[in-house]
Amino acid sequence: MSENKIKFEVEKEVFLEHIKAAGLRRTEQRDLILETFLSTEEHLTSEDLYVLVHRIDPTVGLTTVYRTLKLLTEAGLAREVRFGDNKTYYEHHYNHEHHDHMICTECGKVIEFFSPEIEALQDQMAENFGFKATHHSLRLWGFCDECQKTSRETHTASGAQPRVRVKTAIH
Ligand SMILES: [Zn+2]
Ligand SMILES: [Zn+2]
Ligand SMILES: [Zn+2]
Repeated sequence: MSENKIKFEVEKEVFLEHIKAAGLRRTEQRDLILETFLSTEEHLTSEDLYVLVHRIDPTVGLTTVYRTLKLLTEAGLAREVRFGDNKTYYEHHYNHEHHDHMICTECGKVIEFFSPEIEALQDQMAENFGFKATHHSLRLWGFCDECQKTSRETHTASGAQPRVRVKTAIH
C-alpha cells in the first residue's frame, strides 16, 4: 500500500487541484476511492468500485463513490466508457494512451487495442465529410477466443443487437 501511495502521488496532486478548484475539501474517503480506483486495471461501474471500497471502509456510501468518480472524470483521471449494456464504466484516463475496445458478449471480457492505421483512417474519413471529430470510441462486439471454443451462439448471425453482459472480476 505504501508503494501505491508513492505511485499515485501525481494523480493525487491532480485530484487535489481539481477538488480545490471545485470548492470542495479533501477527505479520507475521497482519497480512498481514488486509490482503490487506481489500484485496479478493470473497467468498473460505480457499483463495482463501491464493492471494492466498501471492503476497506464499510462507512463509504455508494453515492460518495458515484460522486467521486464524477469528480475523477472531471479532473481527467477517469474516463467514462460504455459497452452496450446500458451501464457506465470507468477506466484510467490520466497518462493512459488512447485505445479502443473489443467486448465479448458471452463472458464480458473487454480487450483493449490500438491501431495507428484505424486511427488514421478515421481521421481521413472525418476529413472527407468536412467533419471535425473531437473524440471517438470504437467498439467491436463478439466472441473472445475462449468463448468461441465453448459457445454454440457464435455462429448465429442475426441482425439483432447482441445482448451484452459485461462481467467484471468484482463480485
Ligand atoms: Zn481509437
Ligand atoms: Zn468471452
Ligand atoms: Zn479501456
